[in-house]
Amino acid sequence: MQVVTTIAELRAQLDPMRREGRSIGFVPTMGYLHQGHAALVQAARRECDVVVVSIFVNPLQFAPSEDYESYPRDPERDRGILAAAEVDFLFQPDVREMYPRPLLTQVSVPELSATLEGRTRPTHFQGVATVVLKLFHIVGPHRAYFGQKDGQQVAVVRRLIEDLDLPIDLRAVETVREPDGLALSSRNVYLSPEERQAAPCLHEALLQGREAALAGQGSRAVQAAIEERIRRTPLACLDYAAVVDPRTMQPKSDLTGPVMLAVAASLGRTRLIDNLVLEL
Ligand code: AMP
Repeated sequence: MQVVTTIAELRAQLDPMRREGRSIGFVPTMGYLHQGHAALVQAARRECDVVVVSIFVNPLQFAPSEDYESYPRDPERDRGILAAAEVDFLFQPDVREMYPRPLLTQVSVPELSATLEGRTRPTHFQGVATVVLKLFHIVGPHRAYFGQKDGQQVAVVRRLIEDLDLPIDLRAVETVREPDGLALSSRNVYLSPEERQAAPCLHEALLQGREAALAGQGSRAVQAAIEERIRRTPLACLDYAAVVDPRTMQPKSDLTGPVMLAVAASLGRTRLIDNLVLEL
């Protein structure tokens, strides 16, 4: 695996490969890797000739009150994981390389970004869309791999690709979970032992919602079922439970076709999200 820290060097490496007709798969991450990231890398390894992973904790997608400074980092360990997964290139730029001057240009997908996560994190998806578009232009991938765990991010990036005619195939990869159902996340490391014990309530709430949906209940009842399970967990504080269209992120009242059940809750100072997509 080659570790590359500059845009010029990465382009110099990848341009000839692209010209030779080799397919490039790209997995953007913020590091502190776990089995969820590994699943994206494995999918890229299966489907592409050249696999590029980026590690960049993007300041643009954190609000001033959020955990940019304290976001967990372990570059040494990450490199070991990626080398073992037979990644070809690790792109690990610093903030000056990605943002050498004040950024006057940003991209956003407002309609998809205002709901759910956007209510609590109003600038988050503009930061995500901007860095993802920059990374797409730097890497020039044929396929890009994103985790379904961040379902709204998948919707935002999918729409960005469609609206701007980017020649990239977005591949959404199933959420990887702990045996007790908790979705893997770099932020799980913040949880105290008691909070960690309570954290599977998000997944349990979604399963309860799914049961209600499969039993033919309407979206309000499904939402209430999700809320009820979170409210029954003393350590958890519900942010939202929602039943939405997985492409538009708009509330879905008619429960047919693909439906996304989404939940966000805080356990102490840690905010967790999760979702399930159902085909009804
Ligand atoms: P992050 O490093 O948190 O920005 O995540 C990088 C990529 O890994 C994103 O596309 C995430 O959706 C994906 N990801 C994070 N957690 C999981 C998980 N538990 N299962 C599958 N993909 C995940």
